[in-house]
Amino acid sequence: MSGGHTTLTFLGGTETVTGSKFLLEHEGTRAMVDCGLFQRERRWRRQNWEPPSLEAAGLAHVMLTHCHLDHSGYLPALVRQGYDGPIWMSAGTQALTEIVLRDSAQLQERDAEDARKGEYSRHDPPLPLYTVADAEEAIRQFRTLRFDDDAELAGGVGVRLTRAGHVLGSASVTVRLGGAEVLFSGDLGRPSHPLLRARAVPPAAATVVMESTYGDRTHPAPEGEPHEALADVIRRTVGRGGSVLIPAFAVDRTELVLLVLSDLMRDRRIPEVPVFVDSPMALAALDVYRRPELRPELRDDVAPELVHLSHLEAARTSEESMRLNNPRMPCIIIRHPAWRPADEWCTTCGTFSPTVVTPWSSRDTRRQAPGGER
Ligand SMILES: [Zn+2]
Repeated sequence: MSGGHTTLTFLGGTETVTGSKFLLEHEGTRAMVDCGLFQRERRWRRQNWEPPSLEAAGLAHVMLTHCHLDHSGYLPALVRQGYDGPIWMSAGTQALTEIVLRDSAQLQERDAEDARKGEYSRHDPPLPLYTVADAEEAIRQFRTLRFDDDAELAGGVGVRLTRAGHVLGSASVTVRLGGAEVLFSGDLGRPSHPLLRARAVPPAAATVVMESTYGDRTHPAPEGEPHEALADVIRRTVGRGGSVLIPAFAVDRTELVLLVLSDLMRDRRIPEVPVFVDSPMALAALDVYRRPELRPELRDDVAPELVHLSHLEAARTSEESMRLNNPRMPCIIIRHPAWRPADEWCTTCGTFSPTVVTPWSSRDTRRQAPGGER
């Protein structure tokens, strides 16, 4: 590392694509970039419960590249462990991370409650990793930075955000500390994102920490009309009186699906059927994408309201959601799986054929990474 006195420690995001946490340290000043949850396989998720590998109260700054849980979802736990300093991010990341952390905390509390009722936890009583109150505490520590500004933070830490084009607010983060300059790419978007302007080029840095989640594959060049496979499934299903269920996991996935559906209906490539969004988190995120102050991150050809769907409805209560298991007319349902108990979700999947699965991760990435899992 430059100067020999600044150290970089990987506390996550190695050997797995989740749990991103990077620690920069120079003469007692410590800054963390990203604070993600370990997700997916149980052996990784268990790491969220390991005793902390650093003293949270001794950190000077935390910076976030973007809102996704594998980069932000451990923040309430860090705050619970005693971190009471600033958490820096862009305005878009702030708005979306608030939604993501509240949602995550509610799920943590619900899972602990389910474990208590089902008596299947090793803890007695089962505890959530963190609570909604912890998430609110973390949110109070959020501070915003503008893109492309060189900000000087307390303790001699310099930071600059560059648009990464991955999700609204996403940034590559350049950190200067003790003569070292490290660029953390964060997750990077493709040059042609359907909603976001293409990522910008960050300033050069001597050290680059690069995400490589899709490092093992080349995205195929689109052939024929865009999204024709999806359009075909919807046309055939609705044509025989059926409904299509689309699970949407990540906070931004629903916006992309709605945009595509909106375009397909506008171009009369699929019939105009009601679209139901069965995810409180997705609806809140849609409102964030529509905020005028975040508009500069969106492509010029995206309409301010994002989507024109004449029959876009929200299922906000459990009863409304349950009713969607047996819709009275052909429709499209976008559902966040975590918000339904597993047995109910399976029942739902059994009711619907086909279920369209939106991709969100590359399973083989780790196998391709040097030193990764074999
Ligand atoms: Zn991401």
